Amino acid sequence: MHKKLLWGEMTRLELHDLSERVDTVLLPVGSIEQHGPHLPLDTDTFDAMYILVEAVKRLHEPRPPILPTVPYGLSEHHMGFRGTITLQPQTLMALVMDIGVSVKHNGFEKLFIYNAHGGNSNILKEVANQLRYDVGLQVFIDNGESMEPGKKELVKSKNDVHAGEYETSTCLANREESVVRENITRPTLRFPHPSMEFDHQPPFFFTWYTHELTDTGAIGDPTEASKEKGEMLWERGVELLARRIDQICFRK
Ligand SMILES: [Zn+2]
Repeated sequence: MHKKLLWGEMTRLELHDLSERVDTVLLPVGSIEQHGPHLPLDTDTFDAMYILVEAVKRLHEPRPPILPTVPYGLSEHHMGFRGTITLQPQTLMALVMDIGVSVKHNGFEKLFIYNAHGGNSNILKEVANQLRYDVGLQVFIDNGESMEPGKKELVKSKNDVHAGEYETSTCLANREESVVRENITRPTLRFPHPSMEFDHQPPFFFTWYTHELTDTGAIGDPTEASKEKGEMLWERGVELLARRIDQICFRK
């Protein structure tokens, strides 16, 4: 029986059999970018795989397979701090297009993307439209929506969008050893105009660079983070994501 969760660890025969029993494939998408002085550069990439694995463990068999993570994303806004690697939009688009076409070629009808990096969300929606049009693949994208209810309930810091209370808590909960606790400090944030604050639902689109808004690379307040909060955030998010995948994934 299928105890393996990852596409990459299955044999072609196991994957073939699975493709005749479920119609959905899961794809984690992350980024390699600065996460302040205290969190690892691959936080988003690690978390995208983490939440999918934890969610799929809660599903009954047959379970949708999880593809290897797309580790890089669109992170040009973080290039002002060392450690960031960014793709061009057309590179990410081409990569996810090719993965989607291959998924369809393997007999699956649906691709569910868990995207852990906000900078990727617009381009992934474009890819989703194009994959439907080109090869008839139905694409679903969770841009962190499963984590939102828990975040609204538990995270109190203002403008907490990057390496702050939320992300430091979730990192303490799923790999505490990679958090450099002595570097956790409250950043000084400066917004060019009050209406540009993330909490204010800016009335217009604007581009921003992290180094223009924060002195440490974090946006939010990591000093408010705790492992316990992170565990509660993951529990709520994993459960919600598992239910959503379960609704989408059709078993034959
Ligand atoms: Zn992140």
